[in-house]
Amino acid sequence: MRDGILTGALIFLLSAAAVIIVYQSAVSSKLKDALGQLRPQAEYLASLVDLRAHAWLTNKQQTNSQPHTALTQRLQNMRQFYPGLGKLFTGRYKNGKIDIILDTLDPARVRSEPHYVARPLGIDLAPDSPEIKAIQERQTFLSDQPVFQGEGRFLGVIVPLPNPDFSVRDFLYIDSSYETVAAGLITARKARDISLLVAGIFAVIAGMTVFSWRSQSHFRQMLTVTKLREGEELFRSTYEMSPVAMCLTSTDGRILHANKAFCDFLGYAKSELGKLQPSDYTQAEDLKKDQPLVEKLRDHQASQYQTERRYLRQDGQIVWGLASVAIVRDSDANISHYMTQVVEITERKLAEETLSLSQERLALAADAGKVGMWDCNLTTGSAVWNDVMHDIFQTDARNFAPTLQAQEAFVHEEDRGAVTADFQHCQLAATPYEQEYRIVRRDGEVRHVKASAIIFKNESGNPIRAVGTHIDITTEKEESKELIRAKEAALSADKAKSEFLAVMSHEIRTPLNGVLGFVSMLKNTPLDSEQISYIETMESSGQGLLTLVNDILDLSKIESREIHVESSTFELRPFVRKIHQQLEAQAYNKELHYDFVVDYSVPKSIHSDPIRLGQILTNLLGNAVKFTEYGRVELCVSARPMGLYQKNWEWSFTVRDTGPGIPPEALPKLFQLFYQVDSSATRRHGGTGLGLAISQRLAKLLGGEIRVESLPEKGSEFTLVLLAHRGQQVAALANLAPPKPIESSPQKVLGKRILVVEDNPVNRKLCALQLKRLGCEAEFAETGFQAVEKVRIGQFDAVLMDMQLPDLDGCGATREIRREEKTGERLSIIALTANAMPEDRKKCLDAGMDDFLSKPLQYETLATTLSKWV
Ligand code: ADP
Repeated sequence: MRDGILTGALIFLLSAAAVIIVYQSAVSSKLKDALGQLRPQAEYLASLVDLRAHAWLTNKQQTNSQPHTALTQRLQNMRQFYPGLGKLFTGRYKNGKIDIILDTLDPARVRSEPHYVARPLGIDLAPDSPEIKAIQERQTFLSDQPVFQGEGRFLGVIVPLPNPDFSVRDFLYIDSSYETVAAGLITARKARDISLLVAGIFAVIAGMTVFSWRSQSHFRQMLTVTKLREGEELFRSTYEMSPVAMCLTSTDGRILHANKAFCDFLGYAKSELGKLQPSDYTQAEDLKKDQPLVEKLRDHQASQYQTERRYLRQDGQIVWGLASVAIVRDSDANISHYMTQVVEITERKLAEETLSLSQERLALAADAGKVGMWDCNLTTGSAVWNDVMHDIFQTDARNFAPTLQAQEAFVHEEDRGAVTADFQHCQLAATPYEQEYRIVRRDGEVRHVKASAIIFKNESGNPIRAVGTHIDITTEKEESKELIRAKEAALSADKAKSEFLAVMSHEIRTPLNGVLGFVSMLKNTPLDSEQISYIETMESSGQGLLTLVNDILDLSKIESREIHVESSTFELRPFVRKIHQQLEAQAYNKELHYDFVVDYSVPKSIHSDPIRLGQILTNLLGNAVKFTEYGRVELCVSARPMGLYQKNWEWSFTVRDTGPGIPPEALPKLFQLFYQVDSSATRRHGGTGLGLAISQRLAKLLGGEIRVESLPEKGSEFTLVLLAHRGQQVAALANLAPPKPIESSPQKVLGKRILVVEDNPVNRKLCALQLKRLGCEAEFAETGFQAVEKVRIGQFDAVLMDMQLPDLDGCGATREIRREEKTGERLSIIALTANAMPEDRKKCLDAGMDDFLSKPLQYETLATTLSKWV
């Protein structure tokens, strides 16, 4: 604004000055012109004055004298030629006074004083005034002001008139109205005024223009400054807040400036960073490694470089950073600073290290494990092989370019069709590929390989890549063939052994049945005490032999894996009670405190094999009762859920006794075959040293184990720990174990007709004796067919059926009898066999028999069983 006003005013002043100068010069030239016109007029009029006559006129009396009148008239007459004249008179300056000599009348003026010669002018002029000086010096005087004042403005001219009297100065004075001149100046004045107005307008416009320009430029300037400031602020905040660590270093590597991210990156405060040397915050070897790059910058061969280096944090930690270093130049284009940006890449570096390590490991493992690895582009067929692949295919990595086709060409002709078809199927289904086939190497050698691959598809679902492995399994193949042969041989040997044992057991059991049976019969005849003791020894020896045969048979079946665990769901409490009851009589005989406890938290039923479980528990309880002389024997059952859904439970069956205990050194050997801690005790109690070994093996088959804790003289604790599901549906407990002998009821069997199917004459005789003693009527068949025939024609209340018979075996005969039975009829068929294994029992029941009696047959057992079925 101020600049606008100043500019406007300046322009106006300059223009006005110019206009006024022009105007003034016009005025002065006009004045000059007017005076220039007036002077010759005055000089001419002066020339008309008769100087002598004029000098003669000196006093008032000479008024209207002829010279006075003539001279006056001459001058008066001249007025008509110079119409603009104002005053016209002649005067005389004498003694400091001016008198008028000749005077003319200006028609425009009204004369007030009378005219006479030497009338004093009446106006005082200063003696040193220019007019007086001109008059005194007889000079012509021009004045732009009327010299002798009167009305209006006039231009006056004084022309000297010579006078012989030297002390007298005569002159002629004329003046002319200035108004005439002024009238000629009106146009100039108008032009001046218009010019001033134009100058004013121009000044205003110029002022406004300047104002607007200045304000615009000021605005622009402000805008630029604001933008600059904003830009600077933006840069500063970007720099400060940038997540990228940035710092400005001097050319010797000292940090001059660093943003927050950089401080955070190194863990130093800004103020501390300035005091650090590059080696304080950078790993020395990385500094050394980067030296050539820095040199390049210094030599102007590059303007920036990137490097990965390790930084040392304040807390001593080493972090990896990707540093981008750029040069900053000064105004002379010399390197003044370095600008460094750092991005932390510790994680990436660690991942890379892990990856390269795992790649290295993988390559090493592949080499060590002789695993050929390949990667194939399914679109182009080109492939990459590792060295092991070349080893397997006996190709040279330097001059053999692996492809899918080449790989397929190595496949043995007989296998190629299947291999190609399988690989194509896997490509289509994108399923993992796995196959074993033969390859034919270039030297003609046939090798077995195991190939595996995974297929990758693109977004459109087309297979594009396959990555896989090849392993040379020739040796394994040969070995496995050998192994299979060996295994088969071992299995058949095992089977032969177990068959042999089964036959042996059967064969031993059959005569033993006779021995024990007749011993039992003998016991019921009148005997003296000595005879009774012999008989009892015979009986216990026979029982011992029987146990041994049973154990060995069990063991051989377990070893040859012929024993199968058959799980079913059954109620636990009745099961435990039954097992417990089996040894109740023995425990009471020894006056032991004999008990069982099933924890309240134990589920109602369990899913396991009741026969094997029963066998183990019976064995443990049997041992406890057998070895304990005083105190107590108890069976405790507890269970706890395992896993999230509590389906699987851990069951513990603990048999605790207060017997002799087992010394610590014997504990590790306890489950070995035929191991017995104390042979004298064995002599006392009997036993084979096989029970625990068998039980432990059975426990393992059930998915558990037996643990033992014992202290000599304190007692033992055998715990069967088992993982099994809790049961949902409960099965009947019919087949668990031999039922507790119930009191026989000879009355019930009295007079019943029993068919005994038995090929062994001794056993037939024994059976006949036992049945006779029971009051039954016995009929005999020696073969299966005979039995079927006899049943067909005869009337029987029960059949005692041997399993092994000459023509049709016991099971076959039973099936035949059942087949021929009419609906509603059911003849009781009881197995009576030397095949004592649980499998045999199952086989018999499956064939349609109702019960199972194993030889050697006790008279009491026969009575009980028969009374159940007749
Ligand atoms: P055995 O037929 O001799 O009982 P086992 O395999 O069942 O064979 O037991 C092996 C040995 O372990 C026994 O001979 C006995 O010395 C010892 N033993 C087993 N159970 C007990 C127990 N409850 N108390 C003390 N000793 C035991």
